[in-house]
Amino acid sequence: MPQRMRYSTLEERKQFYSSEFNLPKAAEWFSIQSGKVKFAVIIGRHTKIYPEKYKEEASTTIIIDEYTNLEDVRQQILEFLPEAVYYDRNVYDANDLKVGQELAFDLDPENITCPIHGTLADKMKRQQGLSFCELELEMVRKEAIGLYEFLAKRFSEVRAVYSGRGFHLHVLDKEAYLLSNQERQVFAGQVKSAGFHIDEWVTAGEMRLIRLPYSLNGLVSRIVLPLKKDELGSFDAVHDKRCIPKFLG
Ligand SMILES: [Zn+2]
Repeated sequence: MPQRMRYSTLEERKQFYSSEFNLPKAAEWFSIQSGKVKFAVIIGRHTKIYPEKYKEEASTTIIIDEYTNLEDVRQQILEFLPEAVYYDRNVYDANDLKVGQELAFDLDPENITCPIHGTLADKMKRQQGLSFCELELEMVRKEAIGLYEFLAKRFSEVRAVYSGRGFHLHVLDKEAYLLSNQERQVFAGQVKSAGFHIDEWVTAGEMRLIRLPYSLNGLVSRIVLPLKKDELGSFDAVHDKRCIPKFLG
């Protein structure tokens, strides 16, 4: 793993969500959305780090859909001290019926074939399916720029987010929310054919959860960070202070 990227401890997660998690910024992310956002946490599926009392629930996805405000969401996160926090890209009406879904793309470094570490299959063989190196991180950043430009030809509201491992691209155009599952599938296929290593599950909509911007990625101890297009060009996930939590100093 790149320098100083490692699992966060429970104490560090606690420290992050009590004093560092930027709630106003997270709220801003959702300001264009109407309807109530559902959140979700995974306590310790990959890290096996969890509060003892949640041993049974450590690997499950816990949905947080009953809350009064974001401060309340923060309190619930502090209760679980999860390795990961997500939100549901589905948009629901007042009767909890799905009326749309935010279109998103997930680019992960482990899907990149590395000149040193090989393909994902090679990495899996060595039980390093979730690891990546700085070179892969660099390659995936360049892919994110390319995918941003690809998407910007068709949509006007494209957002890039550093996920802690790779990058997410979100499309916030109204028409994108209304795409059918089949249209998403077709579009995901086009994006793959254009050479981008996306996770089709996310784009096609089967995986509806995506990391919450400004939350902590507890697998690598990095803050999930929205980036402007021109920031993507020089972004350095290993050293950029904006994505390094205080507990790493
Ligand atoms: Zn590598």
